[in-house]
Amino acid sequence: MHAHAFEALTAADAIAARTVRCTSCNAPIFFARTPGNRTIPMDIAPQPQGRYYIAYWTRSHIGLGNIATDQATVDADEPRFDTHFVSCPHASTHRRRDK
Ligand SMILES: [Zn+2]
Repeated sequence: MHAHAFEALTAADAIAARTVRCTSCNAPIFFARTPGNRTIPMDIAPQPQGRYYIAYWTRSHIGLGNIATDQATVDADEPRFDTHFVSCPHASTHRRRDK
């Protein structure tokens, strides 16, 4: 169980509050923390094949859960998100590669 710092906010609100622009392509993205504690850029639009879901959020960051490892407990209709590395037209200019 997670104690949400923003009790009134939904996950969508948490994303909206943290939306920034990709410095390469200007697409709206948000940064979130993986289960492995890496901070990565995410597309704000849910993706049917996304590999992550919003597991929790706090005042300082959004935490991602991994669909593959948590599939037994993730609802089928839980919005899924994928990294902006996948869709960024300038992905080759990103120094860090998603894997
Ligand atoms: Zn981009």
